[in-house]
Amino acid sequence: MNTTEAEKKEYLNFIHQIIEEDLKNGKHGGRVHTRFPPEPNGYLHIGHAKAICLNFNTAEKYKGLCNLRFDDTNPAKEEEEYVTSIKEDVHWLGFDWGDRLYWASDYFQQMYDFAIEMIRKGKAYVCDLTPDEIREYRGTPTEKGKNSPFRDRSVEENLILFEKMKKGEFPNGSRTLRAKIDMSHPNMNMRDPIMYRIVHATHHNTGDQWCVYPMYDWAHGLEDSIEGITHSLCTLEFEDHRPLYDWFLDQLEGVHRPQQIEFARLNLNFTVMSKRKLLELVRLGLVKGWDDPRMPTISGMRRRGFPAAAIRDFADRIGLAKRESTVDVALLEFCVREELNRVAERRMAVLNPVKVVITNYPAGQVEMMEAVNNPEDEGAGTRQVPFSREIYIEKDDFMENPPKKFYRLAPGREVRLRYAYLVTCTNVIKDEKGEILEIHCTYDPETRGGNTPDGRKVKTTLHWVSCDHAVQATIRQYDRLFKVENPLSDPEKDYKEFIHEHSLDIVENCQLEPDLKNFKPGQFIQFERLGYFIADPDATDDNLIFNRTITLRDTWAKIQQQENQK
Ligand code: ATP
Ligand code: MG
Repeated sequence: MNTTEAEKKEYLNFIHQIIEEDLKNGKHGGRVHTRFPPEPNGYLHIGHAKAICLNFNTAEKYKGLCNLRFDDTNPAKEEEEYVTSIKEDVHWLGFDWGDRLYWASDYFQQMYDFAIEMIRKGKAYVCDLTPDEIREYRGTPTEKGKNSPFRDRSVEENLILFEKMKKGEFPNGSRTLRAKIDMSHPNMNMRDPIMYRIVHATHHNTGDQWCVYPMYDWAHGLEDSIEGITHSLCTLEFEDHRPLYDWFLDQLEGVHRPQQIEFARLNLNFTVMSKRKLLELVRLGLVKGWDDPRMPTISGMRRRGFPAAAIRDFADRIGLAKRESTVDVALLEFCVREELNRVAERRMAVLNPVKVVITNYPAGQVEMMEAVNNPEDEGAGTRQVPFSREIYIEKDDFMENPPKKFYRLAPGREVRLRYAYLVTCTNVIKDEKGEILEIHCTYDPETRGGNTPDGRKVKTTLHWVSCDHAVQATIRQYDRLFKVENPLSDPEKDYKEFIHEHSLDIVENCQLEPDLKNFKPGQFIQFERLGYFIADPDATDDNLIFNRTITLRDTWAKIQQQENQK
């Protein structure tokens, strides 16, 4: 290998290294064809996003194709709602399967024909053991299994019985079709695995046509083979299934041979990712649905305001490994902030308002102040923000008796109002209980736009909204759903005990810059000094709703800083 080749290898992930080797050797006729094969039994989550990016990006990189295939071999658990959401999520992430949307159930007849071929070759048999007996006969990792008493049935008898299974003559669980491999195989998956089970259920696609359904290991390789997949990328838990994946295809005449390659699944801290648990959170009403902004689902993250580009960037940065690990959610949040900083327009919004009266500003006067929409993007231009005698600022930005390090507004102190004027606090008006009703200030007319012609310095710039022009909104402030890094670490405790009680904080009567009423669901915004937000689809004309995507605080940058200092 020359140096350029060695250099190139260095930044190729291990799957791409395998593919380049295959391409060099002319394997699969130089084709690359991948697939993303979700089972439509739940919404997609950030782990699936990793698999989606890997499969579609790999196809694109090698000028190949990537299929979307619904692995709908289980009639009981699958629903139309999931199919719709999965398609929407893959598209939203920025990928397209073109005209290659496939259903495993479309291959049921082919799979059945292959099963007949297996029986004819003496490689499969109908077994009458009950599920419990099958388990018992299977042995353990340290103990060999026992042959089923039905293992040596004749081909003719097997063909008749399998036909009867197909016709629905036997009840659920009474018989199976099993591969005849080796009951003492060190790999338990090879101990006469089940190929078909009897399930009397209506399938969303094939209706009542079938009452035998193929098991994953039998079905998946066939699906890949039928579609001409070259590299079947899956997560590590299938590593021990690869010998079986290969064995099945080895038994069949003239079928295409895809190659299964495993990679480590994505685990993320402060969340749970199994579909079963996510479904439970939804069913128990612990979140508002699969797309609740606290869910690690793609639809939840979309509603939360995570840009698709940030998720793709995250998938890129976590890389690809052969060993399981847990990724810090702070890395995902870092990617979100990076992207939003680039694309989100800035606006001013006051979440906990207190009124400021600028006593020397003419009543009834309104000035339009020019404000920059996004300092990171000149093309975003500027806008005009109305300023008047009465404005709102954040309660937190004022203290009557400030401690040493409080640099915001206080009696006698001057601060800058962003894009407007410098103001100095002259008085505080309170009610009989001591609650602040109004803060009185004077402004310096020489400081229009927030400039100081005499060069004097003020420590703080505050955001504000003109009272007469403000629009009201409800803000949903989201935080991580779990308060511990690993909600599953304690086997004694239910993961639901670790749900963060304050993962949703609803703030009413927020006062926003007027043009925020024109923001459509899905549009990103930074509220200056507060964080990134997104308009929520629940909003109505008279009740604006924004979700807080994330605060401006960047723990990941901090962690990196600390790392660099070590
Ligand atoms: P189930 O528990 O229902 O099997 P699943 O998460 O494996 O859940 P699938 O619909 O079978 O769901 O997954 C589709 C694809 O996404 C598979 O190829 C799977 O390997 C991949 N995938 C699932 N979870 C992750 C994850 N956490 N990280 C990376 N890839 C994943
Ligand atoms: Mg799965």
